Amino acid sequence: MFYFALASEAAMSTVDDSASMSAPYVLEFTYQRSTGPIMGRFFSGLKRQVILGARTSSGEIIVPPSEYDPQTGEAIEELVKLAGTGAIKSWTWVNHAEESHPLDKAFAWALIQLDGADTAMIHAIDVDSMADIYTGMRVQVKWREDRIGEILDIECFVPETELQAELVSKPTLPSPSAALSESEAVDLLQAHSKLEYTVYAGQQLRLYLQALAQRRIIGTSCPACQKIYVPPRSSCPVCSADMADIIDVADTGTITSFCVVNIPFEASPFDPPYVAAAILLDGADIPIFHLIREVECKDVKMGMRVRAQWVEDEALAPTLSNIKWFSPTGEPDLPFEAIAEHL
Ligand SMILES: [Zn+2]
Repeated sequence: MFYFALASEAAMSTVDDSASMSAPYVLEFTYQRSTGPIMGRFFSGLKRQVILGARTSSGEIIVPPSEYDPQTGEAIEELVKLAGTGAIKSWTWVNHAEESHPLDKAFAWALIQLDGADTAMIHAIDVDSMADIYTGMRVQVKWREDRIGEILDIECFVPETELQAELVSKPTLPSPSAALSESEAVDLLQAHSKLEYTVYAGQQLRLYLQALAQRRIIGTSCPACQKIYVPPRSSCPVCSADMADIIDVADTGTITSFCVVNIPFEASPFDPPYVAAAILLDGADIPIFHLIREVECKDVKMGMRVRAQWVEDEALAPTLSNIKWFSPTGEPDLPFEAIAEHL
């Protein structure tokens, strides 16, 4: 199963017309991925406090294991147990831990070459300060108490000596060759990704958003090929010509292509089914993407004439969300030839 969600603030913020505009954005998606036979064994091993590496045909040991020999492309078949100790090859210090980081304090990301491995793996190093870490430093894996078969079953690495006493008192680890019970096998992985960032609008995007706040849709015109781009751009992607002229286009247009969304997802604007379409606004040469409402999905057609449905005046803001959706004007459909160059 795969689903995708994109969430963002509704509008860019601005201080005045000349000020820069910015908005926080969150790009977030989650999915289950199958692990395959090699990574599945690697993750299963982590659950049992065992780190497995791949032995290539030339005898190199790669960790984390890859499914294919990066040199020859041959399938990897043999996995070998590696020590939970190694040496730091390089590192970088993180002063402020983010929510998604494995530690909630300052720490280091490091490339760690485990004893017996020919490659290095990246993971977190828990030391108190930059003064306590150096390239070549010996480190030891620290396991999480509750392991589920993922890379964060390794909580972090710590300086080797700190765990010596604990290792001595630890019960013998299970053999890596011991058969896994069905509940231990890792064949699916929950892979959640979240990217939070701030978008800063350049001059053209700022003008576009400010125009939208006035119920206007603007584009720029290419002096070389005469094409009108919406949203506006500073240069023509075909001719590379500067496009300084701002052109107002209509809030009516023609559907050039569309899809019916039948699968619900987290940030879905409506309960499906609904239509998302490419709409060629009158006066523009490039379609924009928006939603189509007030018509049955089965009645939407390429060539259908539509008009923007705007929010009320008091809700206007510098955002394309000022247009709730497009709905049919009732005019006759345009023939395919009229939109064929704008698909
Ligand atoms: Zn051009």
